[in-house]
Amino acid sequence: MRLKLPEQVSGIIDRLEAAGYEAYAVGGCVRDAVLAREPSDWDITTSARPEAVKRIFRRTVDTGLKHGTVTVLTEDGQYEVTTFRIDGVYLDGRHPEEVIFTPDLKEDLLRRDFTINAMAYSPRTGLVDPYGGMKDLQKKLIRCVGDPDARFDEDALRILRAVRFSAQLGFRIGDKTRMSVIRHAEMLRKISAERIRTELVKLLVSPNPEIFLDLWRLGLTAVFLPEFDLMMETPQHTPWHRYNVGEHSVRAVCAAPADEILRLAMLLHDVGKPALRYTDSFGRDHFQGHGKEGAKMAREILKRLKFDNHTIDEVTTLIYWHEYWPAVERAEVRRAMHQIGPERFPSFLEVLWADTAAKGPYQQEENFAWVRGLAGQMEAVLADGDPLELKDLAIGGEDLLALGVRGREVGRILQGALSRVLEDPAENDRERLLAWAEKEAEGA
Ligand code: ATP
Ligand code: MG
Repeated sequence: MRLKLPEQVSGIIDRLEAAGYEAYAVGGCVRDAVLAREPSDWDITTSARPEAVKRIFRRTVDTGLKHGTVTVLTEDGQYEVTTFRIDGVYLDGRHPEEVIFTPDLKEDLLRRDFTINAMAYSPRTGLVDPYGGMKDLQKKLIRCVGDPDARFDEDALRILRAVRFSAQLGFRIGDKTRMSVIRHAEMLRKISAERIRTELVKLLVSPNPEIFLDLWRLGLTAVFLPEFDLMMETPQHTPWHRYNVGEHSVRAVCAAPADEILRLAMLLHDVGKPALRYTDSFGRDHFQGHGKEGAKMAREILKRLKFDNHTIDEVTTLIYWHEYWPAVERAEVRRAMHQIGPERFPSFLEVLWADTAAKGPYQQEENFAWVRGLAGQMEAVLADGDPLELKDLAIGGEDLLALGVRGREVGRILQGALSRVLEDPAENDRERLLAWAEKEAEGA
């Protein structure tokens, strides 16, 4: 089998070989090259010790000398070059106590998580695949290298990586590996929130985000997102909904564009529902205020998973507003754009759309038409440059000061002016607004 390596990668391999060492592209990049996917990074493994790698290449960075990793800088990017190694014992379920360098490539491949990630390649040697990675790629299988129980005991992050790769690649997790995941679910507690977050996001923005339900089936959400298990236990007896809250939410994730903020928003948009469910005397469920409650809960969850503030703010704002359906009417859309934020409004419409797509057929076409109507109004507002924010007003605070307005009155009158202008952009005329403001100021 021949694979096409980037010039820089084969260049690094050549230089190491010329110096008398073995060197290969290894791991995820080999897997992706075989699958004709674009690798996110190219890693190189070599028999050369870090000191030797540093001697051979002029520009290097000491990335993790203890773990044998040196980063080689080229004009066209940087590449991690890691010495063949065996991971020592894992006492904490996260990190090996020590690493031992080895001259044997097979030993290095043995420490890797899954068979499909345990292949190496060099133009001179071809594919090195001692653990059946190629066969599993063809069968679309995720299987641990060696005994799954032992591998998950060493490093529990591999549990989440298995599910994440299955979503990214559309592969099945092999039966033995899957059973072992279930047995090791509790071990996820040892894994830091940051690392869980990274895997969760990769799964959500993958081509198969419905695999999120596997996290639930395998008992993993129970450990890091118990709120989702409650969603799976919350039915929705309403004419619109066909699925329980959890299933509906995952369908909504699938219906949204592959964007981190949108998919997180869809996953958590109804997280407030379990706590608020109220069944009336006709047997119908109501979830009033779940947008607001959901935004609060989502903030706690996202903080716990160590998301950054920008992501938390965007996601929770979208959740807060998702219960709100503005009328398809220009002034109301202007007001909604002002409240939700003009930049965020297209995402808000994506949320309404995905939410609708994930319910049942009842009134679905009408609701899609509604969202399309809102999008049309938004386009018109933007095309005409309708004023939406204080900074768009034809008057400012200094004008009011010149009229003798002071203190909090300034803000109140400007807000009043904005309300008028949101209602009717023709009012955004300096003379007219000043005349109105003067009367307002006298009245006060
Ligand atoms: P991607 O970069 O697309 O997320 P990848 O397979 O390249 O996927 P990396 O995290 O970049 O994953 O790791 C590179 C390689 O290192 C893997 O392919 C695997 O061989 C090995 N590896 C990474 N993490 C682990 C782990 N937790 N346990 C065992 N081997 C691992
Ligand atoms: Mg990688």
